Amino acid sequence: MPNRFRRDPMLMNRLQETDPEIYASIMNEVTRIENGVELIPSENFTSRSVMQAMSSVFTNKYSEGYPRKRYYGGQKHVDVIEQLAIDRAKELFGSEHANVQPYSGSPANHAVFFALLELGDKFMGMDLGSGGHLTHGSPVNFSGRQYRNVPYFVDRETELLDMDAIRKIAEREKPKMIISSLTAYPRQLPFKEFCEICKDVDAYSLADISHIAGLIVGGVHPSPCSDTDVTTTTTHKSLRGPRGAIILSKTKDRLHEKYHPESKKNLAQLIDSAVFPGLQGGPHNHIIAGKAVAFKEAMQPNFKSYARQIVKNARALAEELMGLGIKLVTDGTDNHLLLIDLRKSGLTGKGKQIQNALDRAGITVNKNSVPFDEAGPFNPSGIRLGTPAVTSRGMEESEMKVIAQCITIVIKDYKDRARQALIKEDILELVGAFPIYPGLTVLE
Ligand SMILES: *Cc1c(COP(=O)(O)O)cnc(C)c1O
Repeated sequence: MPNRFRRDPMLMNRLQETDPEIYASIMNEVTRIENGVELIPSENFTSRSVMQAMSSVFTNKYSEGYPRKRYYGGQKHVDVIEQLAIDRAKELFGSEHANVQPYSGSPANHAVFFALLELGDKFMGMDLGSGGHLTHGSPVNFSGRQYRNVPYFVDRETELLDMDAIRKIAEREKPKMIISSLTAYPRQLPFKEFCEICKDVDAYSLADISHIAGLIVGGVHPSPCSDTDVTTTTTHKSLRGPRGAIILSKTKDRLHEKYHPESKKNLAQLIDSAVFPGLQGGPHNHIIAGKAVAFKEAMQPNFKSYARQIVKNARALAEELMGLGIKLVTDGTDNHLLLIDLRKSGLTGKGKQIQNALDRAGITVNKNSVPFDEAGPFNPSGIRLGTPAVTSRGMEESEMKVIAQCITIVIKDYKDRARQALIKEDILELVGAFPIYPGLTVLE
């Protein structure tokens, strides 16, 4: 029988027939991403191979447990993909243990809390307004409601992490865990210093590298994995895999005597049993297949050039914006993201309006709080930009220059819709040379 899907790389012919409404929305989304500039730093364009693994028969299979220790039959092939994903994750990050089952970044962090802390225990995480994540102790999140967060902030003047101040808080408060991470902090994270503080105060160290995992495996950001007790990461951001997460850890529980004297489990086992059966049921095997594919892609030499280009692009975008008079938090970037401080352009609290204006111009960004923002989280004073997605579609420094010029025009005259429509034309012309999924829009 001829393979009817061979000419349809996304296996979409069937969907077009059975559910034209959903099919139309998918194709509209393809058009939207192809025709726009995607600058949300947590987003990316995954490969077709990853997408094909995700849309495979592995979505059907139940496999509670871990490779060779399952509850249901029929696990021969599931065990192969999960073991490959584990082995590749360990190799890629140089880590002793990997759990590849977490459904996403928030559940992965939840599992670490569940594994290492008791309800009500004290921990330290970066404040949301300084660039931390919801799961690092926000009062509306499980982490802030069920555990006691002692937040740390960036320095008001420099907008940088002040490690002496963080050490003082840790010595005073004696938290059981300290999280080092970022979602809107445009500088490198000093993982070694975080780990030294953790050692001195008997705290577990958790590095959440969700945003920067691709930079770390690409060699353009120091890795936490050799020092940190536990490292979590999403797989869908700069790492460019499927939507999901993994937990990497040491095998040994350094603080076993102090915090888990009754337990027979080492650190790796504490993590594994927190994920399953602690918080999750059956793993999403189709996503685990996609993770394995993405890890293999990240081991290829061209992933290193991609990671280097992400940082070069972020620098080029930052320099051009600053040259045009736009104020950036910390006056620059050394990773994949930058944060525009609209307060300095007289636009305090206008993040939402600017985000919408940029949307109309074909540039997708997100509004974001800046450190010590006077305006609330719904009308913040910042715009967050990042370069992983534009780098994946092949753009380089010269394109960043053009994009920075377009952004500046929109910010300076954010009410001028006619101008935004004109810029959208320029953007269309720019992106035309960088197709993301060539051939996808001409399905038979
Ligand atoms: C994105 C992110 C998460 C959460 O990931 P989800 O998959 O959205 O749940 C957690 N921590 C950090 C630092 C992140 O950037």
